[in-house]
Amino acid sequence: MKKIILASNNIKKVKEIKQILNDLDVEIKSLNEEKINIDVIEDGKTFEENAKKKAKEIYELLRERGDKDFIVLADDSGLCVDYLNGEPGIYSARYSGEHGNDEANNKKLLEKLKGVSDKERGAKFICQIALFDEEGAYYGITGEVKGYILNNIHGNGGFGYDPLFFYPSLNKSFAELNSDEKNLISHRGKALSKLKDLIVNLIK
Ligand code: IMP
Repeated sequence: MKKIILASNNIKKVKEIKQILNDLDVEIKSLNEEKINIDVIEDGKTFEENAKKKAKEIYELLRERGDKDFIVLADDSGLCVDYLNGEPGIYSARYSGEHGNDEANNKKLLEKLKGVSDKERGAKFICQIALFDEEGAYYGITGEVKGYILNNIHGNGGFGYDPLFFYPSLNKSFAELNSDEKNLISHRGKALSKLKDLIVNLIK
Protein backbone atom coordinates (compact mmCIF):
# COMPACT_ATOMS: atom_id res chain seq x y z
CA MET A 1 0.00 0.00 0.00
CA LYS A 2 1.25 3.47 -0.88
CA LYS A 3 2.15 5.76 1.99
CA ILE A 4 1.41 9.50 1.87
CA ILE A 5 3.66 11.59 4.06
CA LEU A 6 2.26 14.99 5.00
CA ALA A 7 4.93 17.62 5.54
CA SER A 8 3.06 18.98 8.54
CA ASN A 9 2.49 18.44 12.23
CA ASN A 10 -0.52 20.76 12.30
CA ILE A 11 -3.14 18.46 13.86
CA LYS A 12 -6.12 20.25 12.24
CA LYS A 13 -4.56 20.11 8.78
CA VAL A 14 -3.52 16.48 9.10
CA LYS A 15 -7.03 15.52 10.26
CA GLU A 16 -8.69 17.42 7.40
CA ILE A 17 -6.47 15.78 4.77
CA LYS A 18 -6.98 12.31 6.30
CA GLN A 19 -10.77 12.83 6.21
CA ILE A 20 -10.79 13.88 2.57
CA LEU A 21 -8.58 11.01 1.42
CA ASN A 22 -10.05 8.38 3.74
CA ASP A 23 -11.70 6.29 1.02
CA LEU A 24 -8.46 5.85 -0.94
CA ASP A 25 -6.27 2.79 -0.56
CA VAL A 26 -3.38 4.73 0.99
CA GLU A 27 -1.82 5.09 4.41
CA ILE A 28 -1.52 8.72 5.55
CA LYS A 29 1.21 9.77 7.99
CA SER A 30 2.25 13.04 9.57
CA LEU A 31 5.92 13.90 10.15
CA ASN A 32 5.57 12.98 13.84
CA GLU A 33 4.10 9.60 12.97
CA GLU A 34 7.03 9.02 10.61
CA LYS A 35 9.54 10.16 13.27
CA ILE A 36 10.80 12.89 10.94
CA ASN A 37 12.15 15.88 12.80
CA ILE A 38 12.94 18.62 10.33
CA ASP A 39 12.40 22.36 10.38
CA VAL A 40 12.16 23.62 6.82
CA ILE A 41 12.82 27.36 6.52
CA GLU A 42 10.02 29.00 4.56
CA ASP A 43 12.06 31.62 2.71
CA GLY A 44 10.37 31.41 -0.69
CA LYS A 45 8.76 34.44 -2.34
CA THR A 46 5.55 32.65 -3.29
CA PHE A 47 3.19 30.07 -1.79
CA GLU A 48 4.37 27.61 -4.42
CA GLU A 49 8.08 28.09 -3.64
CA ASN A 50 7.42 27.47 0.06
CA ALA A 51 5.18 24.42 -0.44
CA LYS A 52 7.61 22.92 -2.97
CA LYS A 53 10.62 23.48 -0.73
CA LYS A 54 8.93 21.73 2.22
CA ALA A 55 7.87 18.74 0.11
CA LYS A 56 11.25 18.45 -1.64
CA GLU A 57 13.30 18.41 1.59
CA ILE A 58 11.13 15.63 3.03
CA TYR A 59 11.29 13.76 -0.29
CA GLU A 60 15.09 13.85 -0.23
CA LEU A 61 15.19 12.68 3.38
CA LEU A 62 12.91 9.71 2.61
CA ARG A 63 15.03 8.74 -0.40
CA GLU A 64 18.17 8.90 1.73
CA ARG A 65 16.71 6.63 4.39
CA GLY A 66 15.62 4.15 1.72
CA ASP A 67 11.81 4.44 1.98
CA LYS A 68 9.77 2.92 -0.84
CA ASP A 69 6.26 3.36 -2.20
CA PHE A 70 5.55 6.85 -0.95
CA ILE A 71 4.18 10.26 -1.96
CA VAL A 72 5.10 13.49 -0.16
CA LEU A 73 2.64 16.35 0.29
CA ALA A 74 3.14 19.88 1.61
CA ASP A 75 0.92 22.93 1.59
CA ASP A 76 1.15 26.65 2.10
CA SER A 77 -1.78 29.02 2.32
CA GLY A 78 -2.74 32.59 3.09
CA LEU A 79 -4.83 35.64 2.38
CA CYS A 80 -4.15 38.15 -0.43
CA VAL A 81 -5.91 41.53 -0.26
CA ASP A 82 -6.27 43.49 -3.53
CA TYR A 83 -6.01 46.98 -2.00
CA LEU A 84 -2.78 45.93 -0.23
CA ASN A 85 -1.23 44.53 -3.43
CA GLY A 86 -1.54 40.95 -2.23
CA GLU A 87 -0.56 41.48 1.42
CA PRO A 88 -0.36 39.67 3.82
CA GLY A 89 0.23 36.81 1.32
CA ILE A 90 3.02 34.44 2.36
CA TYR A 91 3.31 36.40 5.62
CA SER A 92 -0.33 35.71 6.61
CA ALA A 93 0.53 33.66 9.71
CA ARG A 94 2.93 36.31 11.07
CA TYR A 95 1.46 39.56 9.69
CA SER A 96 1.50 41.26 13.08
CA GLY A 97 5.01 40.01 13.85
CA GLU A 98 4.07 37.13 16.14
CA HIS A 99 3.59 33.78 14.38
CA GLY A 100 0.03 32.47 14.66
CA ASN A 101 -1.48 35.37 16.63
CA ASP A 102 -4.83 35.49 14.78
CA GLU A 103 -6.28 38.30 16.86
CA ALA A 104 -3.29 40.61 16.30
CA ASN A 105 -3.17 39.71 12.60
CA ASN A 106 -6.86 40.60 12.17
CA LYS A 107 -6.37 43.85 14.05
CA LYS A 108 -3.48 44.84 11.81
CA LEU A 109 -5.48 44.04 8.68
CA LEU A 110 -8.41 46.18 9.88
CA GLU A 111 -6.04 49.08 10.59
CA LYS A 112 -4.48 48.81 7.13
CA LEU A 113 -7.94 48.94 5.54
CA LYS A 114 -9.32 51.76 7.68
CA GLY A 115 -11.42 54.11 5.53
CA VAL A 116 -11.15 51.87 2.44
CA SER A 117 -14.52 51.55 0.66
CA ASP A 118 -16.47 48.27 0.52
CA LYS A 119 -15.88 47.76 -3.19
CA GLU A 120 -12.10 48.12 -2.80
CA ARG A 121 -11.91 45.44 -0.09
CA GLY A 122 -11.70 42.42 -2.42
CA ALA A 123 -9.47 39.54 -1.28
CA LYS A 124 -8.76 35.88 -1.89
CA PHE A 125 -7.56 32.93 0.12
CA ILE A 126 -5.03 30.72 -1.66
CA CYS A 127 -4.00 27.16 -0.87
CA GLN A 128 -1.01 25.75 -2.70
CA ILE A 129 -0.20 22.05 -2.48
CA ALA A 130 3.10 20.52 -3.59
CA LEU A 131 3.41 16.79 -4.26
CA PHE A 132 6.49 14.70 -5.05
CA ASP A 133 6.06 11.10 -6.10
CA GLU A 134 8.65 8.43 -5.41
CA GLU A 135 10.48 9.08 -8.69
CA GLY A 136 10.83 12.77 -7.81
CA ALA A 137 8.15 14.04 -10.22
CA TYR A 138 6.62 17.29 -8.96
CA TYR A 139 2.93 18.27 -9.13
CA GLY A 140 1.56 21.66 -8.04
CA ILE A 141 -2.10 22.24 -7.19
CA THR A 142 -3.82 25.54 -6.33
CA GLY A 143 -7.22 26.28 -4.81
CA GLU A 144 -8.59 29.77 -4.28
CA VAL A 145 -11.73 31.51 -3.08
CA LYS A 146 -12.69 35.17 -3.53
CA GLY A 147 -14.48 37.41 -1.07
CA TYR A 148 -14.30 40.76 0.74
CA ILE A 149 -12.71 41.97 3.96
CA LEU A 150 -15.33 43.14 6.46
CA ASN A 151 -15.06 46.25 8.64
CA ASN A 152 -15.47 44.20 11.84
CA ILE A 153 -15.12 40.67 13.15
CA HIS A 154 -18.18 38.47 12.34
CA GLY A 155 -18.72 34.95 13.75
CA ASN A 156 -16.59 32.79 16.00
CA GLY A 157 -15.91 29.61 14.00
CA GLY A 158 -12.88 28.74 11.90
CA PHE A 159 -9.46 30.27 12.50
CA GLY A 160 -7.09 32.92 11.18
CA TYR A 161 -8.77 35.60 9.05
CA ASP A 162 -12.11 33.72 8.85
CA PRO A 163 -14.07 36.31 10.94
CA LEU A 164 -13.04 39.07 8.50
CA PHE A 165 -13.56 37.16 5.26
CA PHE A 166 -17.01 37.75 3.77
CA TYR A 167 -18.31 35.28 1.19
CA PRO A 168 -21.03 37.07 -0.84
CA SER A 169 -22.93 34.08 -2.28
CA LEU A 170 -23.71 32.81 1.23
CA ASN A 171 -23.92 36.31 2.72
CA LYS A 172 -21.77 35.16 5.64
CA SER A 173 -18.22 35.42 6.89
CA PHE A 174 -16.13 32.23 6.86
CA ALA A 175 -16.33 32.22 10.67
CA GLU A 176 -20.13 31.94 10.40
CA LEU A 177 -19.94 28.70 8.39
CA ASN A 178 -19.67 25.23 9.88
CA SER A 179 -16.68 23.16 8.76
CA ASP A 180 -18.64 21.17 6.13
CA GLU A 181 -19.97 24.40 4.58
CA LYS A 182 -16.50 25.94 4.58
CA ASN A 183 -14.79 22.85 3.12
CA LEU A 184 -17.17 22.84 0.14
CA ILE A 185 -16.13 26.30 -1.05
CA SER A 186 -12.81 27.07 0.60
CA HIS A 187 -9.40 27.37 -1.07
CA ARG A 188 -8.22 24.31 0.91
CA GLY A 189 -11.34 22.27 0.12
CA LYS A 190 -10.93 22.98 -3.60
CA ALA A 191 -7.21 22.18 -3.62
CA LEU A 192 -7.78 18.95 -1.68
CA SER A 193 -10.49 17.76 -4.03
CA LYS A 194 -8.12 18.30 -7.01
CA LEU A 195 -5.44 16.51 -5.00
CA LYS A 196 -7.71 13.52 -4.51
CA ASP A 197 -8.22 13.20 -8.28
CA LEU A 198 -4.47 13.36 -8.82
CA ILE A 199 -3.70 10.73 -6.16
CA VAL A 200 -6.33 8.37 -7.58
CA ASN A 201 -4.38 8.50 -10.86
CA LEU A 202 -0.97 8.14 -9.20
CA ILE A 203 -1.90 4.99 -7.26
CA LYS A 204 -3.65 3.25 -10.15
P1 IMP B 1 -0.31 27.96 6.78
O1 IMP B 1 -0.66 27.43 5.45
O2 IMP B 1 -0.64 27.02 7.88
O3 IMP B 1 1.10 28.49 6.83
O4 IMP B 1 -1.30 29.20 7.04
C1 IMP B 1 -0.93 30.51 6.87
C2 IMP B 1 -1.90 31.48 7.48
O5 IMP B 1 -2.86 31.87 6.50
C3 IMP B 1 -2.73 31.02 8.68
O6 IMP B 1 -2.04 31.18 9.88
C4 IMP B 1 -3.92 31.97 8.60
O7 IMP B 1 -3.60 33.21 9.16
C5 IMP B 1 -4.10 32.15 7.10
N1 IMP B 1 -5.07 31.17 6.58
C6 IMP B 1 -4.82 30.12 5.77
N2 IMP B 1 -5.96 29.44 5.50
C7 IMP B 1 -6.94 30.09 6.19
C8 IMP B 1 -8.33 29.84 6.34
O8 IMP B 1 -8.93 28.88 5.82
N3 IMP B 1 -9.00 30.73 7.12
C9 IMP B 1 -8.40 31.78 7.73
N4 IMP B 1 -7.11 32.03 7.65
C10 IMP B 1 -6.38 31.19 6.86
